[in-house]
Amino acid sequence: MSAKILSGKDIAKQIRAELAEEIAQMKADHDVVPGLATVLVGENPASVSYVTSKNRTSKKLGMHSEQINLPADTTEEALLELIHKLNNDPKIDGILVQLPLPKDVDESKVLMAIDPGKDVDGFHPVNVGKMVVGEADFLPCTPAGIKQILIRSGVETSGAEVCVVGRSNIVGKPIANILLQKAEGANATVTLVHTRTKDVPAHCKRADILIVAAGVPKYVKGDWIKPGAVVIDVGVNRTGTTESGKAKLAGDVDFDEAVEVASAITPVPGGVGPMTITMLMVNTVKAAKIHHCID
Ligand code: NAP
Repeated sequence: MSAKILSGKDIAKQIRAELAEEIAQMKADHDVVPGLATVLVGENPASVSYVTSKNRTSKKLGMHSEQINLPADTTEEALLELIHKLNNDPKIDGILVQLPLPKDVDESKVLMAIDPGKDVDGFHPVNVGKMVVGEADFLPCTPAGIKQILIRSGVETSGAEVCVVGRSNIVGKPIANILLQKAEGANATVTLVHTRTKDVPAHCKRADILIVAAGVPKYVKGDWIKPGAVVIDVGVNRTGTTESGKAKLAGDVDFDEAVEVASAITPVPGGVGPMTITMLMVNTVKAAKIHHCID
């Protein structure tokens, strides 16, 4: 068997085209332009690249975009003051603080200071709580992207056995929660495994849908996968550099083995990755609609 490749890149492109139309319509009908502010502290190269790409995407879609770059020695107090200002800025519908923050800044205090109505990353406890009770305004972006890949690829989740590998607050826990909801595109039976799980391969092998977010390159082997399962590989691991100086990436699944067993699989790169920024844009447009009472 050779699995079908689920291209997050293509699905992201499709969603962005829909969003661009929606944004143009909001401007024409309501004179509303969704606004995203990104806050970057310091010059961590990966963070600079993520934030630049988020701003570029929002501008391309016709949104108002503000990129606020602060020096690495910015105090917690100054950062909280900036968040307060952005919370009260009517041009801004979504605030994204790029993580990680410098060690001297209390990350949780900063994230909690964001108005939950502008928390387009979906990390504020108010939004996490809403997600758990099935009333989310903003789903966290990577899990929301996984959900869209499943829906738009026609993967049936209702009644499916899902195994999620990894229990982080940004991927594992939220995707497990999202897929167990009594809702369209969910209704799955979910198992979540982690480093204290006794037999990870046995749990993986039972899954109709296997979602892996462990941060361990090529961790999941072909013989851990149920024949015909759908595999979503969230991992992005740098394994070296190419001759041209680009990062070599590997997922958390041994792709060459998995592709022979699964019925469908997301590649790395080009799978879940491109969906994350796209879902940030979806959340920002949704925030603008809520702020301006647009259906
Ligand atoms: P994380 O915070 O490091 O969490 C990793 C989770 O995996 C932990 O719960 C850990 O268990 C579990 N784990 C680690 N090794 C394991 C093993 N050998 N067996 C079973 N469970 C194991 O990572 P994360 O932020 O969720 O990210 C996971 C991966 O996804 C990374 O490669 C990251 O780069 C990637 N990622 C990609 C995107 C994207 O947009 N594509 C977004 C976010 C993350 P314990 O809790 O027991 O330690």
